[in-house]
Amino acid sequence: ARMQNQTNCTVFFNPEMQVAVLNRLQLESDLELGLENQEFQIYYQPIYSLQNRYLAGFEALVRWQHPSRGLIPPSEFIPLTEETGLIIPLGEWVLRESCRQFSQWQNEFPDQFPLSLSVNLSGLQILNSDFSGLIDNIIQSNPLEGFNLKLEITESILMENPEIVTQYMSQFKLRKIQLAIDDFGTGYSCLSYLQSLPLDTLKIDRSFVINISSNPKSLDIIKTLITLAHSLNLDVVAEGVETEEQVAILKDLGCEYGQGYCFSPPIDANTVTQLFQKNSYG
Ligand code: C2E
Ligand code: MG
Ligand code: MG
Ligand code: MG
Repeated sequence: ARMQNQTNCTVFFNPEMQVAVLNRLQLESDLELGLENQEFQIYYQPIYSLQNRYLAGFEALVRWQHPSRGLIPPSEFIPLTEETGLIIPLGEWVLRESCRQFSQWQNEFPDQFPLSLSVNLSGLQILNSDFSGLIDNIIQSNPLEGFNLKLEITESILMENPEIVTQYMSQFKLRKIQLAIDDFGTGYSCLSYLQSLPLDTLKIDRSFVINISSNPKSLDIIKTLITLAHSLNLDVVAEGVETEEQVAILKDLGCEYGQGYCFSPPIDANTVTQLFQKNSYG
């Protein structure tokens, strides 16, 4: 279609563009409603110790149970919530709800603990809101006794806001909250920052794990990443571990933890409860 707009420019629309724009607008307003109507769910993906296969913790991963479109993965709505600012209330809900759920599990299944709970943060959450107030508030209602809260931020959040992140980090340390760098290797890290910050964990991105059993170069790279993490005194979680071969290699390289389909996909809260029930007293 060819249209004449008010300044007499000619603009071209193709039908696909129009559909994309409408979809996006629709999704934006659905997101707001979805938050009101509690359509979001948290899935939990187990993280295992590679050295002796015990369950070390879970990562909380948000999903959207859309009334007509079904379960939508975060890649399809997190970027939009970051553009619209909706990530602030959504991220707050994820943090509150996952901590509430963990306290509850800790009460019901104390023999399964200690476990860590990892929660992803967006840059906006720590930049545009009273984040330490929020953390204090959450900890007050859910004392972090039987579990370690671990916050995951990406390299780019860290490198773009070093002062702010550093400030938060010392506050987190006082509250025994741990910090992990997510998707490590996919962004740019300034190694001197990594050295000077009180980080706990590096999560090596899936893209570095995927070919380690077939490609000697990939193997070399992951070796280097693990060595780097250890020389900075950080634990390593390998993301996207899909095969026993990868587990064996990573274990051999001294990688502490693994997360991936080889162990378990992300599972909903009821499935976690069933897992605990099964593991409790036989
Ligand atoms: P992430 O934090 O790197 O999370 C790991 C992603 O890898 C998850 O995707 C998980 O389902 C997927 N994964 C785990 N094991 C495997 C595997 O063996 N193979 C493959 N192919 N994939 C695996 P998911 O759940 O779709 O989340 C995608 C991203 O969305 C997350 O990446 C994270 O950056 C973001 N995200 C999820 N929940 C939240 C949240 O509550 N807040 C924020 N800010 N971001 C979130
Ligand atoms: Mg993560
Ligand atoms: Mg990751
Ligand atoms: Mg990743």
